[in-house]
Amino acid sequence: MKKIIYVFLFIFITLLILFNFINKNDYIEEKNNFNKFPFYKKDLQKEYENYQNKTKYADKKVVLDVNMHLNKPFYEGSVPSKYLNTNYILVNKYNYLDRNYVPNNLVILDQYAKEGIRLNKEAYNAFIEMANDAKKNNLNLRIISAYRSYDYQENLYNSYLKHDSKEKVDTYSARAGYSEHQTGLVIDIDNGKTDYNKFHLTKEFFWMKDNCYKYGYILRYPLGKEKITGYKYESWHYRYVGKKIAKYIYENDITFEEYYYEFIDK
Ligand SMILES: [Zn+2]
Repeated sequence: MKKIIYVFLFIFITLLILFNFINKNDYIEEKNNFNKFPFYKKDLQKEYENYQNKTKYADKKVVLDVNMHLNKPFYEGSVPSKYLNTNYILVNKYNYLDRNYVPNNLVILDQYAKEGIRLNKEAYNAFIEMANDAKKNNLNLRIISAYRSYDYQENLYNSYLKHDSKEKVDTYSARAGYSEHQTGLVIDIDNGKTDYNKFHLTKEFFWMKDNCYKYGYILRYPLGKEKITGYKYESWHYRYVGKKIAKYIYENDITFEEYYYEFIDK
């Protein structure tokens, strides 16, 4: 009897060692394969390895996550935004704009908007087209906020700090320089009746959800993507990226961050 137990124990231990060895080999092979992706960044190799050790994620996710800076806390190691004055500029909690950055081609909005708001001209023309088509379906779209300067954002963020902790404020408001509103390519909208933070309950929202990409807009902070975007779900906040990018993002159900690091920032 004792012999049988020893034999079983021996087989068990051998299998365990073998299994471990195979696993390790697979792992090492994977680790050396990050560079198969076109968006691989050589100087991040060490960070890819550390991140994979920690998370055990597959190669592609590891490379994209690290490229997106998701291996670091928000705002840590942030860099100046690239591609200034293009439709595919990225501003988020890792990519910031200078205090002096004012985008080109801002126009003052004269319809479908509250007074005194400015937005990029191309984005506004696309919005007018979208709002006209919405109107044909008896839906009302109205811009309540668009371009915001660095100084404006600074005051806004500081005013929130009077009521909430920094941790809390960071979940719903951007620090100055880190607000996408400073790009001039962003709109907050409502339907003129319902409070903007209940926009997700309106007919206008359901129309926007499946149509805004046709005009070059995307829902920028979707539900369930908070870890990537750094923001809680905002049904009222839309970003103009142009029709081609918007269509891809809509059809593949991804965030602008994922698109940017896979196709733009190489
Ligand atoms: Zn917004």
